[in-house]
Amino acid sequence: QTHFIFHSPQAKMSRPVQARRLEGIDKNIWVEFVKLATTYSKVNLGQGFPDFPAPEFLREALMRALSGGNHMLHQYTRAFGHPPLVKVLAQFFEKLLGRELDPMTNVMVTVGAYQALFCCFQALVDEGDEVIIIEPFFDCYEPMVKMAGGTPVFVPLRPNPPKDGKLMSSADWQLDPAELASKFSERTKAIVLNSPNNPLGKVFSRGELELIAELCVKHDVLCISDEVYEWLVYDGKQHIRIASLQGMWERTVIIGSAGKTFSATGWKVGWAVGPDRLLQHLRTVHQNSVYHCATIAQEAVAQGFQRELTLYGKPESYFVQLPKELQQKRDWLVQSLDGVGMKPIIPEGTYYLVADISPFKSDVPDVPNSDEPYDSRFAKWMVKNKGLAAIPLSAFYSEAHKNNYTNFIRFCFAKEEATLKAASDILQKWKQEKTSS
Ligand code: PMP
Repeated sequence: QTHFIFHSPQAKMSRPVQARRLEGIDKNIWVEFVKLATTYSKVNLGQGFPDFPAPEFLREALMRALSGGNHMLHQYTRAFGHPPLVKVLAQFFEKLLGRELDPMTNVMVTVGAYQALFCCFQALVDEGDEVIIIEPFFDCYEPMVKMAGGTPVFVPLRPNPPKDGKLMSSADWQLDPAELASKFSERTKAIVLNSPNNPLGKVFSRGELELIAELCVKHDVLCISDEVYEWLVYDGKQHIRIASLQGMWERTVIIGSAGKTFSATGWKVGWAVGPDRLLQHLRTVHQNSVYHCATIAQEAVAQGFQRELTLYGKPESYFVQLPKELQQKRDWLVQSLDGVGMKPIIPEGTYYLVADISPFKSDVPDVPNSDEPYDSRFAKWMVKNKGLAAIPLSAFYSEAHKNNYTNFIRFCFAKEEATLKAASDILQKWKQEKTSS
C-alpha cells in the first residue's frame, strides 16, 4: 500500500522547489521594460545599447576570426581569458593605472560586466556581510549581494539644484560625507562604486573618490568598481580610477565591458582587473559556473584593443571618437527635452540622461496608495500611448527609497540622429496636444 503514498502527486507538489536564496529577487525591471518596449515602442530610448553599428574595425576583426585560417578559434580557449585578450588588456591597464600587471593573474575575462559583478559578489561576500551601494544604482547589484547572502546598505546621492535657475548637472548629485561614513562598520565587506554612474551620468570627482578611498582603507573594505562607461565622459572631464588612489589597488576589482566600450553589447565580453589576492577567488567562481566565454568574440575584442593601444590618445582612436559623437547627441537631446519642458539633468558621462517629467504629469493621473512608484506607471503609459520607451528612475533605487524619486525617467542617447529626432517629435506633438486641449 505504501507505494500509493509515495507516488501521490500531492506529496510531490508540497515540496518547495525554489532555493531560499531566490526569495524576493524574482522581479527584474529589464525583463519587464524590454518586453513593453518590444510590444509597444516606436522609438526605444529605454535599455542601454546603441542602435548604430559597432565600429568597422571591430566587425572586420570578427570576420577575420570567423573565416581566417585559425580554426582553433572555434574551440575552447583558456578558462580565465583568451591569452591574446588578457595580454592586451593587461598592457592597456598598465598604461591607465601606471603599474605592472600580470595578464594571467591580474585580468579575468567574463561574460559581460554582468558576470564579472556576479563573480565579485559570490567570491567576496559572505552571509552576514554588508555591502554599501550608492543610490541610484545599476539594479543588479542588490539581488546579486542578496544571492550571496550579504546585506545591501544604501547611501543616496543627494540632489542640490542650482539656485540660478540653470539646468541641473549630474555633478549636483552628491554624497553627504557624514552620511557615507556612518554606513561603514565592522560588518562592511565591500562598497560598490559605479563611475561614470548609470543612470545619472555622474562622474565622481577626485575629492569624492578620495573620501570613499579613505573610508575603505580605514575600515579595511573592498571596492567593486564598475567602470563600464570609462570612456564615455564629456566636456573634457577625466575619468579617475579609484584603484589608482593611495591604498586602493590591493582592495579594488575594476570591472569593464567590451559591450559599452566598443558599442557591441550583444557580444557580452567583459573583464575584471585587480590584484591576484582578489582575482584568484573570482577565478574559483568562474571555473565552477561559466568556465569559459566565446573564443571568437574574445579574439575580435583583443584585436580591437590592439588597435586602440596603437592609437591611444590620437584623434582616430575609437575611445576618443565615440565620446565626441555622444557628447553631440547628449547636447541635442538636452536642448530638445528642455524645449518641451522635460527638464534634463545634464550628464557628465555615460550615454544616459535623466529628465524631469513634472510638466507631463497631468496626462497620467496618480493612483494614491499604489505599490508602484509614479514614474514607473508614467513610463508604462508613455510607451503604450505614445510609443516612446524610457526607464523610470525609481528602478535604480532600493525598495525602501523607491518612492523618494518618482518624477524622473531615464533616456539612452546612444542612438542614431533619426531615432533621437523621432523621440523629440513624439514629445513635441504631445506638448502641443496638451497646450491646445
Ligand atoms: N554595469 C553597468 C553600470 C551597466 O550599465 C551595465 C549594462 N547596462 C553592466 C554593468 C553590464 O554590462 P555587460 O552588458 O557588459 O554585461
